[in-house]
Amino acid sequence: MNLEQLFTQHFPGYNFLFNYSLQNKSYFKIGGPAEVFFAAKKAQEAIDLLVFCKEKDIRFTIIGGASNVVIADEGISGLVLSLDFADFSVISETDQDLLIRAEAGIKTANLVGKAAALGGSGLEGFIGVPGVLGGAIYNNAHYLKALISDVIVEVEAFDLESNNIINISREKCEFAYEQSIFQKNKNFIIFSATFALKKISPDQVKQLVRDSIAKREKTQPLDLPSCGCVFQNPANTDGLRQLFPQFAQLEFVPAGFLIEAAGLKGIKEGDIQVSEKHAAFFVNLGHGTAKDVVKLVEKVKAVVLEKFGVILKEEIFYLK
Ligand SMILES: Cc1cc2nc3c(=O)[nH]c(=O)nc-3n(C[C@H](O)[C@H](O)[C@H](O)COP(=O)(O)OP(=O)(O)OC[C@H]3O[C@@H](n4cnc5c(N)ncnc54)[C@H](O)[C@@H]3O)c2cc1C
Repeated sequence: MNLEQLFTQHFPGYNFLFNYSLQNKSYFKIGGPAEVFFAAKKAQEAIDLLVFCKEKDIRFTIIGGASNVVIADEGISGLVLSLDFADFSVISETDQDLLIRAEAGIKTANLVGKAAALGGSGLEGFIGVPGVLGGAIYNNAHYLKALISDVIVEVEAFDLESNNIINISREKCEFAYEQSIFQKNKNFIIFSATFALKKISPDQVKQLVRDSIAKREKTQPLDLPSCGCVFQNPANTDGLRQLFPQFAQLEFVPAGFLIEAAGLKGIKEGDIQVSEKHAAFFVNLGHGTAKDVVKLVEKVKAVVLEKFGVILKEEIFYLK
């Protein structure tokens, strides 16, 4: 029995899509088809499918807004599961504090907007982060010095090992710059998170949101498909402090700065280009492929290593 027959037989009434192109779903406009695609509108649908995949030993891949991934040109085998449940609720509210909960499928920008309308401050920098909350938690989205984990109280996840929904406190999520436990433990699927925000006036929060949007529009190539910053900012070292004293006080050196300083701004592989506007971004000029991305990543890494002795590490995730 092939996967199409297997899923259709076990889950009658579920709207599976077979051989479904992921290119348009991807923010980068790259990627082949999902063998089986399903968008879960309810947590229980996701649980049923995840448990089924485990029992039948079927490969599965979770996808959010697909803005931090490079999807293989050949596509993804097995089930690609999009978690689309997106409830938002206020748990408690005082004059000073706001405790909210949001589900994995809520658009990150939507979450920021809802918090802002209530005067909840702490998330505004994430207004321009595409994708959904599950993806933002997975990579611990950052903006300037803020990490989304700064305001997380706990994350609710489905644990595929015990088949239970569990709550993981912020401390146990092992959050750090570009890191979370969810990257290490693939049995944990992010379902929702609780945030503790400080109350200020909604007008003040909305102004902070507008400032963040304006800063991004000025510095980021938002007019072209991309996957955001391709590389993590490398940790500062004595050598880098000597080369670039302007960053001496910083814990990390901006990867985009190193790429630009290495003379790589604007270079291309096929239709994938190191952005002319922000060298940490790769943009798709039209028909770029995942293979082009990989070639350009290797080229940039090699030159930055040669020029500055720095090993760049991807911030993006490859899905295949
Ligand atoms: C223009 C632009 C600007 C950006 N700006 C920023 C920025 O300021 N800061 C920043 O940190 N990033 C930024 N990014 C990168 C990206 O948008 C963020 O990392 C975003 O939070 C990813 O969310 P997503 O839903 O698109 O995740 P996806 O790309 O869909 O998934 C990313 C990874 O998370 C996993 N995943 C997704 N959901 C779940 C879940 N529920 N449970 C378990 N695993 C899951 C996926 O399997 C995948 O490995 C930017 C990208 C673009 C294109």
